[in-house]
Amino acid sequence: MHEGRDMLKMEGYNRPKTCEKCDGVMVFMGVGEYQCEDCGAVAYDDYGKVRLYIEGHRGATASQIEQGTGVKQRSIRNMLKEGRLEITPESKVFLHCAICKKEIRSGSMCPECEQNYHRRIEDEQRKMKNSMQGFGIGKEEQQGEKRFKFE
Ligand SMILES: [Zn+2]
Ligand SMILES: [Zn+2]
Repeated sequence: MHEGRDMLKMEGYNRPKTCEKCDGVMVFMGVGEYQCEDCGAVAYDDYGKVRLYIEGHRGATASQIEQGTGVKQRSIRNMLKEGRLEITPESKVFLHCAICKKEIRSGSMCPECEQNYHRRIEDEQRKMKNSMQGFGIGKEEQQGEKRFKFE
């Protein structure tokens, strides 16, 4: 699977930088929403567009979201994988656990596999610590714990 991991950064969400109406500076308001400093016009980045669309169209499929927002399905899935978006219970957009293929609503693994995964990493870290003392693998390897969600 080549999903272009480098493009997953926040910058990749087509953040509106200047106002379409007056060229004013767009200020971040939260959850993908931006407002013009000068005229107050509101605009959204890809995340904001998708979020707004899902709020208004519960149960939308990924392709409907793409049509409704102009945001590529791949970007939508990336947002889900990063845990930036939560799929509503009624939604037909599903991700699959990377390990057991069970349907999940956000992230890349189901809770059970994620737990096992962390346990395995901890085991490996413990082993590694025992075999090479002082080697610099630390907490930052445990990515899942740092994942955050916009509300
Ligand atoms: Zn403006
Ligand atoms: Zn799983």
